[in-house]
Amino acid sequence: NIKLASRVTSIRVSPSTAAAQKVRDLQAEGRKILNLTVGEPDFDTPEPIKAAAIRAMEAGETKYTPVNGTVELRKAIQHDFKTRLNIDCELNEICVGGGAKQVLFVALMATVEEGDEVIVPTPYWVSYPDMVIANGGTPVILPCGEDVGFKLTPAALEAAITPRTKWVILNSPSNPTGAAYTEAELRALGEVLVKHPHVLVMCDEIYDRIWYADFAPCSILGVVPALKSQALVVNGVSKSYAMTGWRIGYAAGPLDLINVINKLQSQMSSCPSSISQAAAAFALTADQSDVVKTVEVYRQRRDRAHQLINAIDGLSCTLHDGAFYLYPSCAGLIGKKKPDGKVLETDLDVSLYLLEEAGVASVHGGAYGLEPYFRISTATSMKIIEEACAAIAEACSKLQ
Ligand code: PLP
Repeated sequence: NIKLASRVTSIRVSPSTAAAQKVRDLQAEGRKILNLTVGEPDFDTPEPIKAAAIRAMEAGETKYTPVNGTVELRKAIQHDFKTRLNIDCELNEICVGGGAKQVLFVALMATVEEGDEVIVPTPYWVSYPDMVIANGGTPVILPCGEDVGFKLTPAALEAAITPRTKWVILNSPSNPTGAAYTEAELRALGEVLVKHPHVLVMCDEIYDRIWYADFAPCSILGVVPALKSQALVVNGVSKSYAMTGWRIGYAAGPLDLINVINKLQSQMSSCPSSISQAAAAFALTADQSDVVKTVEVYRQRRDRAHQLINAIDGLSCTLHDGAFYLYPSCAGLIGKKKPDGKVLETDLDVSLYLLEEAGVASVHGGAYGLEPYFRISTATSMKIIEEACAAIAEACSKLQ
């Protein structure tokens, strides 16, 4: 009967974690489940990165590092941000944390006062609203439908800003849709933000190396350098280098914000793992051919899944620019009857039907704030993607 802090009582368990648990439960019962809920690369961390970690351990890099990360890692981040994204930042304008998730959370903790508003475009990565609530803020959920490419428009942003707006969160490429902002789109959003200097923009670009678009990855701060005092650019090594378990994320932003993030980090964790930092510095500066190879594999899976899903009556799906997710619309299935006579009323019903009837696990769109859709991950083998799509097609054909 512990009396919990009110700020934590309204936080949900991450729906994708809950879906993954459901998959494990069904597998434990002996059912064969084709799991399309996975939010991390199915590849192992490349051997040269592991070797860099071993070298760091052998060289005695096993102690606390500076709170804001080793100079070696921050130099690697600085160089990467400059050369890929045209972002200029000093080494002390960069912080390193235990994953992008921790950096995002601590940035909110450092800035959000009770009742401050944080604009969260939908569909959103499941953690954003709960991170805002956990820090006493109010998520302002802004629907960004398929008609606008699942992206925030300047007009919608302008209309949502109030004197209480603290942040707007931009996630490009997006989890769950894979949609990525173009330079022109970022410039237009940046022009709105420059007019509202009290609004900060949190750019979560964790998937920006898993990129298929015919335009280059870009970041709002690189496109609109005048946002220097307003933009926090967050990235990490988890997704690009198959390093989710190493827990290294980082950000570049205004010095006063980075300083408070560091102050909080110093009381929370002292520093991220020294060994993981050495591995991340190596990953960012070494030859990038492993990334290029994996992106090519993801691209083939994306193309195949997109083709198979669009061939299924009742489903439709846009071709996304990055990350390893598809977000098909299941509007054409809503209202249809299952073999047991029950009607599919929501995307949760659809997702559960696919699990029960087809043995395919997905995450329903409601979890990401935009219905009726569901998310499937292509961070799994082509064989599983093909089997799963065939099973989905068969289950859909049984609907009336
Ligand atoms: N941001 C988005 C959009 C994500 O999908 C994820 C992971 O699922 C993260 C951040 C967290 O990344 P990290 O492993 O660096 O904490």
